[in-house]
Amino acid sequence: ALKGRRAIVTGSNSGIGLGVAEALAAAGAEVILNSFTDRPEDHALAAELAARHGVPVRYIAADMSKGAECRALVEKAGGCDILVNNAGIQFVAPVEEFPVEKWDAILAINLTSAFHTAAAALPGMKAKGWGRIVNIASAHGLTASPFKSAYIAAKHGVVGLTKTVALEVAGQGITCNAICPGYVLTPLIESQIPEQMKVHGMDRETVIREVMLQRQPSRQFATVEQIGGTAVYLCSPAADQVTGTTISIDGGWTAL
Ligand code: NAD
Repeated sequence: ALKGRRAIVTGSNSGIGLGVAEALAAAGAEVILNSFTDRPEDHALAAELAARHGVPVRYIAADMSKGAECRALVEKAGGCDILVNNAGIQFVAPVEEFPVEKWDAILAINLTSAFHTAAAALPGMKAKGWGRIVNIASAHGLTASPFKSAYIAAKHGVVGLTKTVALEVAGQGITCNAICPGYVLTPLIESQIPEQMKVHGMDRETVIREVMLQRQPSRQFATVEQIGGTAVYLCSPAADQVTGTTISIDGGWTAL
């Protein structure tokens, strides 16, 4: 259904980004994978995805903490019809101890990159009269938790940017939406488990159920396939009038 569409997915050599890239490739889109590394395995991942889905897949290295590289990514791809802003990092500390360089990096990668890539991608989308921007925000784009100030500020910012871009291009065949996942078991989340086990003095299963999924009423992780499926839906004609909004995939978190 997405044959002939070119999709850029930032931060897509792992986790949700890779899951979204898989889903878009399976739907027939040409896919550009990205991260800040430029290793043989990054390019091998692109080749493997291309072979499995029979679509063109390229890996383009670009550091989403740097505005010029964000814009260069779109240029090197040759523009895109579908832009998925997914690159993101996390750091947890009380505000007064939050390292300034971590704050700056989280705002740059999780929020400002989406401004740069959208700015670079929109002229081409406008020329074609079709475009889809899908921002991977978070339940933390709609609600807060302590000790995640930079991440939550950035993700709320992504939701605001999503609405603004949607208004600027409304009626031009271009939509801009944010997906707000609750907890999805990816390397980002996996890496938080040992620290949470230490902090709470719990074993792995207990920390997952009682701490991490405490706010997710389903007590189940969302999956990268579910996020990918939602991105494909947002690129489908059924979603032509869905714009400037958020779709939560959070097991009921934001209903609480
Ligand atoms: P992940 O760590 O598995 O993936 C993050 C991706 O971003 C990786 O591909 C990484 O290489 C890339 N990346 C990091 N810094 C980058 C940079 N400077 N330039 C380019 N790429 C960079 O994490 P994930 O869980 O898959 O997270 C993906 C997105 O989903 C993030 O924006 C995250 O905030 C969001 N999210 C995740 C969850 C969850 O539970 N996992 C929940 C809500 C939102």
